[in-house]
Amino acid sequence: MIEELRCDFCGKSKKEVLKLFSAEDSNICNECVENCSEIIKKEKIKRNKEEFQKGLPKPHQIKEYLDKYVIGQEEAKKVLSVALYSHYKRIDKAGKQNIEIEKSNIMLVGSTGSGKTLLAKSLAKIMDVPFAIADSTALTEAGYVGEDVESILSRLLAASDYDVERAQKGIVYIDEIDKIAKHHESSVSGRDVSGEGVQQGLLKILEGSEVYVPIKGSRKNASTDTVLFDTKNVLFVCGGAFVGLVDTKTSIKKTSSNIGFVKSEDATNNAKEIEAKDLISFGLIPEFVGRIPVIARLDDLDVPSLIRILKEPQNALIEQYKALFELDGIELEFDDGALKEIAQGAYDKGIGARGLRAIVEKMMLPLLYDMPSSENVVKCTITKGYIEGSEEPFFEYAKENEEG
Ligand code: ADP
Repeated sequence: MIEELRCDFCGKSKKEVLKLFSAEDSNICNECVENCSEIIKKEKIKRNKEEFQKGLPKPHQIKEYLDKYVIGQEEAKKVLSVALYSHYKRIDKAGKQNIEIEKSNIMLVGSTGSGKTLLAKSLAKIMDVPFAIADSTALTEAGYVGEDVESILSRLLAASDYDVERAQKGIVYIDEIDKIAKHHESSVSGRDVSGEGVQQGLLKILEGSEVYVPIKGSRKNASTDTVLFDTKNVLFVCGGAFVGLVDTKTSIKKTSSNIGFVKSEDATNNAKEIEAKDLISFGLIPEFVGRIPVIARLDDLDVPSLIRILKEPQNALIEQYKALFELDGIELEFDDGALKEIAQGAYDKGIGARGLRAIVEKMMLPLLYDMPSSENVVKCTITKGYIEGSEEPFFEYAKENEEG
C-alpha cells in the first residue's frame, strides 16, 4: 500500500487540505503556508516599526532641521518639533498602550508671509511624507458649488502617487483657516456655506475617520473611482493670520487645559500666547478648535529677519541668483546696503517675506537679460543705489579689458 502524503509541519493528509506542496521528500500544506506567511507579515511589520523608531528624528533634530530653512520663529519651531515627534510616535505606538494619545493637529497663527506654509512643508520634508496644501476659502459644505473637504485628501493621494498607505501618514496644510470663522466678512459667497459649514465638514477628517475619496486625475484610474481613506494618522496643520486676535486679547493666562500646550513648556512662556478660547471667540466653533490641540504663534518678521531670509536659508533667494550668474561665469554680490534696502522694501509692503521675491525678481530681470551677452564681466555687485534706481550695479571686468 502506498503511504499517503502528509504535511511535514502539521501532519494533515493530502485529503484533509486544499493543496499539498511537495519537493523531493518534504511536503507542506496550504494551511501551513498561510500560517507562515502571516508570521512573516507580522515579523515584517515589527521590523518596519523598529526601523521607523530608529529613524524617527527627536525634537532637537527636528528643530535643527527647521533652522536650516526657517529664519526666526523660535517658539513656533519648538512647538512644532514636539508636535511632529509626538504625532509620529503616536502612529508608531498605536495599539501598544491602553492610553489613546491625542492627535497633535496644529494651528499656526501668524501674518501673511511669516513662514506658516514653509514650516508645514518643512515638517513633511523631515518625515519624508506626502504633503498637500488646501485653501479653506475654496472649500464649501458638501452639496454646494466648490471643493468639498474630501478634495484635500485627493490632493494628498496625488502627492503620494496614489499610494494610499503613504498618503494616510501625510501632512496637510489648510491655509486661511481664519476666513472660515463664523460670520466672517471674507466668506467668499456671502452665505455661510464656506464658514461654519466647512468647519463642520473638516471635523470628521481632522480627528480621524474613514472617508471615501475620489481619485480623479489618477493616471492609474481614469474613471472617478473612490478609495477608502483613513485620516487617523494624517497630520493637519492649519494656518491663518487671525488679524485683530492678538491686539484684542485682554487676558493672558499661563496655562491651558489643552494637552498640546502643556507639553510645550516654552510656548506657555510666550506672553503673546494664543489659547483655544481666543480662536473660539474669533469665530471658530469649539468642536473644531478642540481637534487642534497644538497652537503656535509666529512673529511678524522685522527688517533684520528679512535680511537673514534673503541670504541664510538653504536655497536662499540670493544664493539662487548667485548660482544662476555663476553658470555664466559671473560672480554676483549684494552689498549690505542693498540687502537692507530690499528687506526694508519688503517690510513696507506688509506681506512679510513674500515681498522679497517680487522686489528681487524685478531688480534682477534686466541683469539676467544683459549679463549673458556682456563679455568680460567677471563680477557684478548690487548696491543700495541700484535697488533705489539711482545707479547701475558695480561691474568688474576681466584683466585684459579692465574698465573698472
Ligand atoms: P505664509 O504661509 O505665512 O503666508 P509662506 O510660508 O508662504 O508664508 O512664506 C512666503 C515666502 O517667504 C516663502 O517663499 C518662504 O520661503 C519665505 N519665508 C517666509 N517666512 C520665512 C522664514 N521665517 N524663514 C525663511 N523664509 C521664509
